[in-house]
Amino acid sequence: MVNPIRKDMTLYECSNCKRKFADKSVASNCCVCGICGEPKDHKHSNVECQACLDKKYQERDRKFVEKATLVKYDSKLVYHNNDDQWMFDGDGVYYYLADNYDLKEDLPEYLYVSEEIPFVLCAESVIENALDEHHEDAGDCISKKEYKRLQDFLNQWAKDQSILSWDGYLDKKVLVSEVVEVLDIKKFL
Ligand SMILES: [Zn+2]
Ligand SMILES: [Zn+2]
Repeated sequence: MVNPIRKDMTLYECSNCKRKFADKSVASNCCVCGICGEPKDHKHSNVECQACLDKKYQERDRKFVEKATLVKYDSKLVYHNNDDQWMFDGDGVYYYLADNYDLKEDLPEYLYVSEEIPFVLCAESVIENALDEHHEDAGDCISKKEYKRLQDFLNQWAKDQSILSWDGYLDKKVLVSEVVEVLDIKKFL
């Protein structure tokens, strides 16, 4: 149960953001990183400061990369660098590596295979949303056949839209040293 704040209550203020709390220790830790004890802001309501958060994500990604399946480079696939840069063909990969890195030693160890994110509309969710304020069994008034008819229409409609996105997953990796050889990127050979 959350205790309501009463008028006569003593409130404690966070010295940084000035928010008020009934609990003194909550107030004094309000803008303090729970990990390193440095000051932090309230962005994304994180309990960590940005530096600790970055470290946490880096560590998470490192584990993903470690577990990723090593695959052969295929110039027909789309790749990304795990830092919001996507390469859509062999030329893209070539220029990404040749333009962004001066020395062989600076090259990243891996690039990651990116897959197209399917654009799907689910008839069931569309109907469920639309029936939000209707009576509980309203959905039963629609037959399975009609659900399917809507789903077929939604599938076709989704195909007609020009929505194309690529994922940033880290489940498949290629060795950059292999890419450099396959693409014959002279400056790194
Ligand atoms: Zn605060
Ligand atoms: Zn911290």
